Amino acid sequence: MIRPALAAAAVLVALAPALPANAEPAPQSYMAERAAIQPKSADAVLARPLLRVPFSCGENWSGASRSGHSPSYYSLDFNWGSGRDDLGKPVKSSAAGTVVRSAYDAGGYGNYIEIAHGDGWRTLYAHLQNRAVAVNDRVTNSTQIGRVGDTGNVTGPHLHYEQIHNGAVVAAKFGTSTWATYPGPDTYARIRDC
Ligand SMILES: [Zn+2]
Repeated sequence: MIRPALAAAAVLVALAPALPANAEPAPQSYMAERAAIQPKSADAVLARPLLRVPFSCGENWSGASRSGHSPSYYSLDFNWGSGRDDLGKPVKSSAAGTVVRSAYDAGGYGNYIEIAHGDGWRTLYAHLQNRAVAVNDRVTNSTQIGRVGDTGNVTGPHLHYEQIHNGAVVAAKFGTSTWATYPGPDTYARIRDC
């Protein structure tokens, strides 16, 4: 006699599609994977590289935080104009660095890019329309790395943005003194390194 739990497991195995011999199983969503990593209290205030607002100079972007935002409350969702006005707007690196991820995450980030800036600091840009840089590419503090899109788990175009220290999303800070507002939204604009 098969116990119910084993019977259920057997059904799940039976329903799982057989993978071709050479296929690798799909990785778990990178967004979901990182949601479990929480910042240490010191992470928010540590010296970090000078990180610019990730857009062209002269544009005012609304950056929103919200409770339940994945993978972290400290993530920001950026919009420009209204409706789908921001679709295709250039996205720029917040600082010089090296591209460590340029990939597609169907269940979360869609097209996303992660850039390492040294000392455990990274920035991540998600839901992009396209990815203009590849892993190991060097970027400057104003390289256009892609365009605002609506890929992945979204209801409309926007840029999902994270400042990361040692794997944890931390409260965002722009330039030398502009801390992001939590809870948002607030308005942000790049004023240097255009
Ligand atoms: Zn988001």
